Amino acid sequence: CGIVGYIGKRDVAPLLLEGLQRLEYRGYDSAGIAVHSRSAGLRTAKAQGRVRELESRIPKRFTGTTGIAHTRWATHGAPTDANAHPHLDTEGKVAVVHNGIIDNASDLRAKLTADGVPLASDTDTEVLAHLVARAGADGAETLEEAVRQALRHVEGTYGIAVLHEDFPDRIVVARNGSPVVLGIGEREMFVASDVAALVSHTRQVVTLGDGEMATIKADDYRTYTTEGSRTSASPETVEWAA
Ligand code: GLU
Repeated sequence: CGIVGYIGKRDVAPLLLEGLQRLEYRGYDSAGIAVHSRSAGLRTAKAQGRVRELESRIPKRFTGTTGIAHTRWATHGAPTDANAHPHLDTEGKVAVVHNGIIDNASDLRAKLTADGVPLASDTDTEVLAHLVARAGADGAETLEEAVRQALRHVEGTYGIAVLHEDFPDRIVVARNGSPVVLGIGEREMFVASDVAALVSHTRQVVTLGDGEMATIKADDYRTYTTEGSRTSASPETVEWAA
């Protein structure tokens, strides 16, 4: 339902929680966050219920300057802690948040299970984390390429944000039928499913189109098609009263 991500210099968990709160008006049943820090790697916290509930579950020193977060409106799998996003691959290196519906999820889940991949949730979304990890194991050299390969298996709608422990300098996002906007800051970048989550930080916004992906880094961003060709991405200034 709602996505927020950040990469920059600030402590990310409070920023993402604030972003999630700005998306609460859309409705949701659970919330979660993944944060990367150099010392602790990738960590997640999730909770069924309100963003406040998630906040109360976040461990002390959950620090880091890169992260993604989600409010979920369940379509596949009950609203439980385990089904809250972000979803991880088996090694816990790839974290994915997703809005939308993966139509062929039950096929993909069955294939992964047949290949011996244990599934930790009942969601359609979780397959994405495993598919990205697998693309990496199969030789994709960049996170962008791994996400691109994973998406080739997927039918349905998505706005996704992906964070990988081995590529902590970036967040990769993709859109097909579920909104994704980038917020361009000063040596910091945001991503969200709705400008409401980022207008308190920046008014410079790039709206992705369907079939478009983007990589955000602290001081740089680029947009491209799912086939990999660059697309133009001049920011627009949004006049939007929060
Ligand atoms: N289909 C996904 C799920 O049920 C995402 C739902 C959403 O957009 O929040 O977990």
